[in-house]
Amino acid sequence: ATPISIMVATGRAAGLGIVFRQGDALQRLRNVRVAAFDKTGTLTVGRPALSDAQPLDGSLDCPTLLAAVASVQSASEHPIAHALLDAARTESLPLSPVEGFEALTGAGVRGRVDGHDWLLGNEPLMRNSGVPVEAGVTARIQALAGQGKTVFLAARDGRLAGILGVADSLRPGAREAIDRLHALGLKTALITGDHTAAAQAVAGELGIDIVHAQTLPEHKAEILRGLQRDAGTLAFVGDGINDAPALATADVGIAIGQGTDVAIESADVVLMNEDLNSVARAIALSRLTLRNIG
Ligand code: ADP
Ligand code: MG
Repeated sequence: ATPISIMVATGRAAGLGIVFRQGDALQRLRNVRVAAFDKTGTLTVGRPALSDAQPLDGSLDCPTLLAAVASVQSASEHPIAHALLDAARTESLPLSPVEGFEALTGAGVRGRVDGHDWLLGNEPLMRNSGVPVEAGVTARIQALAGQGKTVFLAARDGRLAGILGVADSLRPGAREAIDRLHALGLKTALITGDHTAAAQAVAGELGIDIVHAQTLPEHKAEILRGLQRDAGTLAFVGDGINDAPALATADVGIAIGQGTDVAIESADVVLMNEDLNSVARAIALSRLTLRNIG
């Protein structure tokens, strides 16, 4: 390929909403063997809505649970937090100020509301914080996650107080995007901090080959390096929330949408069109442009 044909190709890609930030990304895309995806905000639209809320403490009714949980979440930027705030607004629930808020990345959040300490997050977070979780609750988490929902627990003053779930929809075109990558001979993978059952539900619906769930943000890069060893040159596609290190570790980091500034800076390619089919399109364009070199 000549410098001119590469310029023509990157120009064509830009016209389709595929922006190459690194000059050699087009070359590296040609050899990609495995495409790994973030789940929330990438394969899903990332705007979940509250689907389930159940008090686990007899002294709490559902509106009280929701109001307290939404009050803690008002200080969080996680998509889960947005779902809770939307629900509180819809139900006109009164929010209280949160004190001592802390985000526990990849696990949950904590804060003090109306004189109570609240801890919100996944089951491992509860166990690590000394909050007992009965087998019946674990089974309920499993059942909700099996429907592809993201589940979290709420503990008040160190005791389990509720189980909540949010549901996100798949990004339009996601199934086709995965099919097209398989047609190009690639393997596909899903990497998420979410529960294994939720990850498997999404992967099953999309036909994704490899699933890594319940991964902590700091372990995502390590998992990518394992995939590179097993499968070869790797592209990672993420929306940039919590996944800047993964975008930087991949041979080709692809950020979807406007994303965060950090994500854009860590990415080699930006899909301005927010279309997952652009991943296969970019790889096909790269192969076509560079077909004549060894
Ligand atoms: P993902 O990799 O899908 O973006 P995260 O690493 O952000 O997932 O979160 C992993 C898990 O931690 C969630 O599935 C949820 O159970 C819990 N969690 C994270 N943030 C929050 C929050 N703000 N409120 C409640 N639970 C949370
Ligand atoms: Mg995400």
